[in-house]
Amino acid sequence: MSEENLKSMADLVAHSKHRGFIFQSSEIYGGLGSCWDMGPLGVELKNNLKQSWWKAMTYRDDIDGVDAAILMHPTVWKASGHVDNFTDPLVDCKVCKSRFRADNIDLNAPCSNCGSKDSFTEPRNFNLMFSTQMGPVEDTSSKVYLRPETAQGIFVNFPNVQTTMRRKLPFGIAQIGKAFRNEITPGNFIFRTREFEQMEMQYFIKPGTQAEAMEMWKELRWNWHLENGLRKERLQWKKHEQLAHYADAAFDIEYQFAHGWGEMEGIHSRTDFDLKQHQEYSKKNLNYVDQLDGNKKYLPYVLETSVGCDRCMLAIMSDAYRTEFPGDAEKERVVMRFKPSLAPIKAAIMPLMKKPDLEGPATALLRDLQKDFKCEYDTAGSIGKRYRRQDEIGTPACITVDFDTLTDHSVTVRDRDTMVQERVALDKVKSYIKEKFSL
Ligand code: ATP
Repeated sequence: MSEENLKSMADLVAHSKHRGFIFQSSEIYGGLGSCWDMGPLGVELKNNLKQSWWKAMTYRDDIDGVDAAILMHPTVWKASGHVDNFTDPLVDCKVCKSRFRADNIDLNAPCSNCGSKDSFTEPRNFNLMFSTQMGPVEDTSSKVYLRPETAQGIFVNFPNVQTTMRRKLPFGIAQIGKAFRNEITPGNFIFRTREFEQMEMQYFIKPGTQAEAMEMWKELRWNWHLENGLRKERLQWKKHEQLAHYADAAFDIEYQFAHGWGEMEGIHSRTDFDLKQHQEYSKKNLNYVDQLDGNKKYLPYVLETSVGCDRCMLAIMSDAYRTEFPGDAEKERVVMRFKPSLAPIKAAIMPLMKKPDLEGPATALLRDLQKDFKCEYDTAGSIGKRYRRQDEIGTPACITVDFDTLTDHSVTVRDRDTMVQERVALDKVKSYIKEKFSL
């Protein structure tokens, strides 16, 4: 079977909209730059992806979850360094007013938008945090920020989680949540947006053990992406040669997106930078008392794993989205080969014809399967057309109720990937699907 695997981003954007995965934000008003809405299938896929991460990261002995508020005390962002350092160098074209990141363009070349020469302003630092006002009075004391990362909500809760959950090092805190960055050059669909979701985990460790923690988390996180179905040849490691001020080692997992290789997840050894800063700014003692080491008091080191949920979803969609030419024109098809546990719809139930005899058992089956899975019920068009529609959204199982069902109490289950059809007894369909697709 030959496959055309490298779809363009434009194809994916069109397919996502056409099949209800992702829509432009506020589309009827002309859209809002770099903001996207998850449609009915997108929200299912994204929830499944988050669930996969949550299970992998928190259904363990050593990690707890939190869900911190998006708005935090403004001093958090002073302590973290975001107020002073979370900036990108920005230039404007004086002629067409376009904005660019100075580190992304050749400042001696003409403006790529209008072609003017020598039209750029001097680079100036632009803070990427969105600010807003808290409470009814607008003054500087009421200024708060939309968090630019979820990590700080974890750091400030370190003492709460450690004491309430009676944790000993090493242990981790995981969180999934929205983050906001006023990116100068957003783009490439949901790769870089101004509002996005992160899935982050901070693993608190004894100082000196960061190298082994890094090895462990590099392996676990790499394997998680493979288990979600991403092709190995589209993944690579990137070691940071220039480290951020808080890090003593950093690696990224990059994915080969349609626009090129890009960071999907960062795995960073952050030392005790964050806890030290919060201890200093909050004047609270954040030391850990190590009962296994003579009650020594110290600030734990931190190993962070940080993956963008939307970026990861873009990788999953890019990887799954294929046009297949099996050599038989009848069978040419577009298919989203999602891992079944991630697929937005698990099963489509299709009565062969719109007749009460067939619709009765078909809806009874639908009601039963819906207790466990998201399903679709489809009566429109030929069975072949209905299969194609489900292939295009990646539904692993299509179940046809036909006239034989009335006598043999069985249905035909067609597998998305092999297109092979099997006859399965009605009362076994649920367990068959659960087992076959590991749901
Ligand atoms: P980049 O270099 O692409 O701007 P970053 O190094 O600033 O990313 P981190 O601060 O390490 O990113 O954030 C962790 C993860 O959050 C990234 O690996 C990415 O998956 C995701 N992420 C960061 N910025 C965005 C964004 N603007 N839109 C979507 N996802 C993002």
